Amino acid sequence: MDLTPLTQWLDTSSRPFIISGPCSAESEEQVMETARKIAQTGKVKAFRAGIWKPRTRPGAFEGVGLKGLRWLRRVKEETGLLTAIEVANEKHVYEALKYGIDILWIGARTSVNPFTVQEIADALSGVDVIVLVKNPVNPDIDLWTGAIERISKAGIKKLGAVHRGFSTFEKTMYRNQPNWQIPIELRRRIPGLPILCDPSHIGGARKFIYEISQKAMDLNFDGLIIESHIDPNHALSDAAQQITPETLSEILSRLVLRSPNPADPKLLDELGELRQQIDVFDDHLIELLEQRMQIADKIGIFKKRNNITVLQSARWDEIISKAILKGQEKGLSAELIDTVFKAIHQESINRQIRIINNGIDVNKAD
Ligand code: PEP
Ligand code: MN
Repeated sequence: MDLTPLTQWLDTSSRPFIISGPCSAESEEQVMETARKIAQTGKVKAFRAGIWKPRTRPGAFEGVGLKGLRWLRRVKEETGLLTAIEVANEKHVYEALKYGIDILWIGARTSVNPFTVQEIADALSGVDVIVLVKNPVNPDIDLWTGAIERISKAGIKKLGAVHRGFSTFEKTMYRNQPNWQIPIELRRRIPGLPILCDPSHIGGARKFIYEISQKAMDLNFDGLIIESHIDPNHALSDAAQQITPETLSEILSRLVLRSPNPADPKLLDELGELRQQIDVFDDHLIELLEQRMQIADKIGIFKKRNNITVLQSARWDEIISKAILKGQEKGLSAELIDTVFKAIHQESINRQIRIINNGIDVNKAD
């Protein structure tokens, strides 16, 4: 996807770009004290605070509203930090711009709705401000890229994405499922678009912030947005996931930053050689898959001739348990074998169903 002109507003050489501050602005004292302590760490570029809060249930704290914008203006004047807030409609955009907010983000409950995203895009038309688009709550990459595209079409050049995980019905360790393959796919679709990770909303608990942040750094994310509060336990929203500015500083110092490409040419050579070996094996895997599918097709023709059903559950159970055992002997996880074999099996079934119904040569079909 081409989003030119995309201006690089974030210095990738001083990765990670850190945004931090409370989930919600609660009082002038809380905002100012958190901001001062965050600025003292010397590691944070921008101060975040929710002014209008989208809450799951009515009756919860819904943000301080307009007066919070004055506090953020003070933060900027007194600490020099950039300021960032969530905008969920055109009125929020106009108010934020009036108060000189530097970074506007579109929240996960807003990026799901193209009507609202378009309303925000229209309000941003011709404005020079940084806009970050959080992923929608559901794992739909097209909806995410669509929202980014709408903002880009409004003329916003300083764009970024925020990965904050995805809702699931199942109970999982994290509050929101990371599905890391989705932000990786986003990077592939829009190269050059900065991507930040929000470990606070992915993890939902303080104890996960470090491990998720480190994972994001290993996947070469450009920055992090982390919730912090001077008194996290008494925060009016998201208390379990907020950390003190001191803990923030400690976590940021512990992060190990690996370079996407080693600067030393010798190391680059070595890495290149290993990558070539991987390419050879990947080619080999593709050839093997092709051969395996040819056999599956032959079986499909046999089943058609002899009026046998495509799916034979008992046979399949046997294949997968044997493969998992064999894989374990070779140090391959049951999860890997299960995922790969299920995908291969599904493909074989799809091909056989087409053969049985049409008798066509699947390689030449479509
Ligand atoms: C937030 O950043 O406080 C927030 C509401 O995030 P999200 O939109 O990711 O839930
Ligand atoms: Mn929050």
